Amino acid sequence: MDIGASALFRQAALVGGEWISADPAKAIEVKNPATGEIIGRVPKLGAAETNKAIAAAKEAQTGWAARTAKERAGVLRKWFDLMIAHKDELGRILTLEQGKPVAEATGEIVYGASFIEWFAEEARRVYGDIIPPHRADSRILVMKQPIGVVAAITPWNFPNAMITRKAGPAFAAGCAMVLKPASQTPFSAIALAILAEEAGLPKGLFSVLTGSASEIGGEMTANPTVRKLTFTGSTEIGAELYRQSAPTIKKLGLELGGNAPFIVFDDADLDAAVEGAMIAKFRNNGQTCVCANRIYVQDGVYDAFAAKFSEAVGKLKTGNGFDQGINLGPLIDEAALEKVEEHISDALGKGAKVARGGKRHPLGGTFYEATVLTDVTKEMVVAREETFGPVAPLFRFTDEDDVIAQANDTEFGLAAYFYAKDLGRAFRVAEALEYGIVGVNSGLVSTAEAPFGGFKLSGLGREGSKYGIEEFMELKYVCLGGI
Ligand code: ADP
Repeated sequence: MDIGASALFRQAALVGGEWISADPAKAIEVKNPATGEIIGRVPKLGAAETNKAIAAAKEAQTGWAARTAKERAGVLRKWFDLMIAHKDELGRILTLEQGKPVAEATGEIVYGASFIEWFAEEARRVYGDIIPPHRADSRILVMKQPIGVVAAITPWNFPNAMITRKAGPAFAAGCAMVLKPASQTPFSAIALAILAEEAGLPKGLFSVLTGSASEIGGEMTANPTVRKLTFTGSTEIGAELYRQSAPTIKKLGLELGGNAPFIVFDDADLDAAVEGAMIAKFRNNGQTCVCANRIYVQDGVYDAFAAKFSEAVGKLKTGNGFDQGINLGPLIDEAALEKVEEHISDALGKGAKVARGGKRHPLGGTFYEATVLTDVTKEMVVAREETFGPVAPLFRFTDEDDVIAQANDTEFGLAAYFYAKDLGRAFRVAEALEYGIVGVNSGLVSTAEAPFGGFKLSGLGREGSKYGIEEFMELKYVCLGGI
């Protein structure tokens, strides 16, 4: 399939209902990370266009919020149906700009679409309250209303799903959204906007702004019309956006970095633990914020787990995401590759050993071999920093309390995983882990039905689930007196 010919591949941004084509003299080039080739250009927009998009969003939002929840749900449902109908085309656009294998990319489209479907359903279940009053002659009502105009900034690792997880609840609640997708992966966002138009989302309700992150982000945070900022990305940028949003007291939703522990206890089903670790570590080539970053294995099963796991890792195939049978694509860019190399060389310098991989892939570019390190200790950088690449460091531990302390010894608190059969242990450890998401005997936890979000420096708020829509609403207390 020639992507250039796809009606969903458009080299333009959507500002307040108007498409702005990329001017070659002032555009951002988007590259295929597997080949380095330029696949297209998008406009380099800034504060002025962002301001315009926010004004249009405000205008469109009032009418959208006034529609019945069922009408809003109908438009979202149509958007979902269109995404599913075009999942292969959307998946190929995603692979082209992001690199993940096309089967995994199509899986992301289905996963991303599930948030639109879920929140189309949730739109009709936003209930208020009537509370027993403090005085006999009054009544207390609580109603939920859309927060208004929402600004969203999203990353490159899930170019589709990180948008739908925000747009679904925002539109279901009756909000408008201005979005800045990552500059590495704008075409998946643009394709979503094309389908949103086709589904009947009102003009101006959804803008997609490509361009300067600091200029667009600066206007989004400074503009008082924007009542909520929802961001997925690094803790460093999240903290900066938090700071920039302070003067206008915006509501914040932040999905930031992680440093996920994955613990294998002596009583675990080892085959299941290997399978879970493969998914938790290598999904998206290790480039997710819930990827296992530290794998702790209890002494009694360490050698057996390391052998089985290394064997499974040895079967992974790295290559261009469009080729047959590929499990792992390239890393997103050179900086990502350098970080992986730094983490490995630091670990090796401090006594770790390579059980698998450990070097750049013969394909060159930003391809890196799937790697397993053994004899990893807490003194190494991999224990503290998110590697965001295909590197699995195996730590050894003996004691349950000690491994819980090590797992919690991080400033992050997004996802944690552990494998154990003992029911008492399952409860004890799940309760003791200071994380927003805990997978017990499960390496894949993200789903539209469950709340996704972190403790500590991993963020604020939750996405997905019945809780996700609350993030885009204000509570209004109405006191009816003199009754
Ligand atoms: P990552 O390391 O995953 O690329 P970033 O936090 O750097 O994470 O980027 C996530 C998103 O935030 C991207 O869309 C990026 O363009 C955007 N971004 C980066 N810097 C800023 C900034 N100063 N203001 C607003 N958005 C920013």
